Amino acid sequence: MTEEKTTQSHAFQAEVAELLSLMVHSVYSETDIFLRELISNASDACDKLRYEAISRPELLAGDERLVIRLVPDAKAGTLAVTDTGIGMTQQELVDNLGTIARSGTKAFVQSLAEAKDGMGLIGKFGVGFYAVFMVADRVEVTSRRAGSDETWVWRSDGGAGFELAPANEEQAKRVPRGTEVLIHLKEDAKKFAERFELERIVRTYSDHILFPIELSDDKGEARQINAASAPWQRSRSELKPEDYKEAYKSIAMAFDEPALTLHYRAEGRQSYAVMLFVPTMRPFDLADPGRKGRIKLYVRRVYITDDAELLPPYLRFVRGVIDSEDLPLNVSREMLQNNPQVTQIRTAVTGRVLGELESTADKDADTYKKVWEAFGPVLKEGLYEDHERRVQLLSLCRFASSASDEPRSLKQYVADLKPNQTEIYYLVGESLERLKANPKLEAAKARGIEVLLLADPIDAFWTIMPSDHEGKPLKSLSQGDVDFGLVPLLDKDAPTPDAAEAYKDVLAAVKEQLGDQVSEVRASQRLTDSAACLVAAAGGRDRELERLLARQERGVGAKPVLELNMRHEIVKALARSIGEKKESDVADLSALLLAQAQILDGEVPRDPAAFARRLNDLILRGLA
Ligand code: ADP
Ligand code: MG
Repeated sequence: MTEEKTTQSHAFQAEVAELLSLMVHSVYSETDIFLRELISNASDACDKLRYEAISRPELLAGDERLVIRLVPDAKAGTLAVTDTGIGMTQQELVDNLGTIARSGTKAFVQSLAEAKDGMGLIGKFGVGFYAVFMVADRVEVTSRRAGSDETWVWRSDGGAGFELAPANEEQAKRVPRGTEVLIHLKEDAKKFAERFELERIVRTYSDHILFPIELSDDKGEARQINAASAPWQRSRSELKPEDYKEAYKSIAMAFDEPALTLHYRAEGRQSYAVMLFVPTMRPFDLADPGRKGRIKLYVRRVYITDDAELLPPYLRFVRGVIDSEDLPLNVSREMLQNNPQVTQIRTAVTGRVLGELESTADKDADTYKKVWEAFGPVLKEGLYEDHERRVQLLSLCRFASSASDEPRSLKQYVADLKPNQTEIYYLVGESLERLKANPKLEAAKARGIEVLLLADPIDAFWTIMPSDHEGKPLKSLSQGDVDFGLVPLLDKDAPTPDAAEAYKDVLAAVKEQLGDQVSEVRASQRLTDSAACLVAAAGGRDRELERLLARQERGVGAKPVLELNMRHEIVKALARSIGEKKESDVADLSALLLAQAQILDGEVPRDPAAFARRLNDLILRGLA
């Protein structure tokens, strides 16, 4: 059979073609990172084989060594990156090097569409294998899956497609197991065939890769150029801040710097080494619906999985390694789910991470502020999910506030309580701007009472459950009765609301007009300037949550309570119309008060056309 006959042509998935055209025409200056991507893939391939060989040792037959090798050829203008790892079958070559599977690359392609400067994004995301086309005219990947007797060659010049053919004899001999990525370097990328250049890049990006990275010389002899050490196994005193930064970058495949580092060894019932990092930048997968963490589990320095849920989902922004001395090497990924040793590690490490956040909040408020800005909304998910740690998590929370431009802790809030104030007040809403303009803040403002403003989507959920801080309950300003009566007004001469009794008839008349659009109409304690607002009944769901659920059509739609500011001129006018039995004024004013309360809450009145008509009618009647 000739090669031509068996060569198959494949088209790239559309996104790959798009990505490749960007790579091929790249003017990005830090092209170095292509090597880091290839070495990282080679290292993954060695990890995978080592893991599979635990149950199938025959996979390693013929060559026990797991090694990565760089073979530059300056004369030919090529660089080969080879590994003796797991390799790829024909189908895997098609799937892995023809589509975009990894979420990082997907996120990259998505951001490209929105970005002005696509190049700047390469450094932020990493683009995986396809980065090789920044430096390559042509790439040939020769691969043989461990345990298989077929070797296949994938070939592409970064155009619309790639070719796949069985390896010839010489190629098959060259790659007895694993993968060789042979790069025909572009004219302006010939430096990547220089040994000192390769050595420099490996030192910078891949020093901590656990497999030996060897560099071949002209005579075909190879020399190891990376440290190949597990930094988490070293003691803290041996490592400098620079070492941690490098470890973070190579372990987490990250490009930023760690905001926090946690490195220790647990001894006792179990022993394990922990090296964890809190990033400065939000990792791209933070918003993935799967909410998966990425902590890497090693067992005695063998990589097992990054899918073991070693931290709860609300700490999924934490990156790093946990290396156990006690777990069995052949622990299957499924078994990890219910393994009591893993559960114990998870509990202990979660406690340590939260402890570290706490002590940072105490000792280094600036750093904590940055961490909170990046990851606060994620951490807050724990308030909803982790009841045991709720108190601790609440104390880690920082909130926007009506009293301060700086984020506030509950501790600070409680320290500044007004005389006779016994509750911690908050308001949940869609955005800070909207919350700040919310009329429900008025009475609190008149008494100088601080209100926490909660505008993250998760806030509508965790606030369902009662919480308190040092015995002071958290209380929503848009739910149930709020009684500020005992807290003195800042302005001593402001009128105090008269007894509700006096307004009984007015309230009943408005309720009759509005029917079952509201569950109740009552005189407000929280308004001083605005005429009306909507609140949830005591024990009912917060208005913001009702709205969220209604939008997802999950709401049963509990009826709100309409509160009226009895001292407002419009409400007084309404009261007069009721007294004078001016039926159409009563109807219009009641409907308008409800509509404006809805608008202030960010809702649209049920019938906007009718609302506009009533408003116009009223104005014209007034003008007439
Ligand atoms: P990622 O490494 O994040 O999955 P890449 O674009 O770097 O994304 O690689 C895509 C896939 O190609 C990998 O997931 C892997 O399955 C496969 N692959 C790439 N290089 C190798 C290799 N040297 N050995 C085996 N498989 C590889
Ligand atoms: Mg990769």
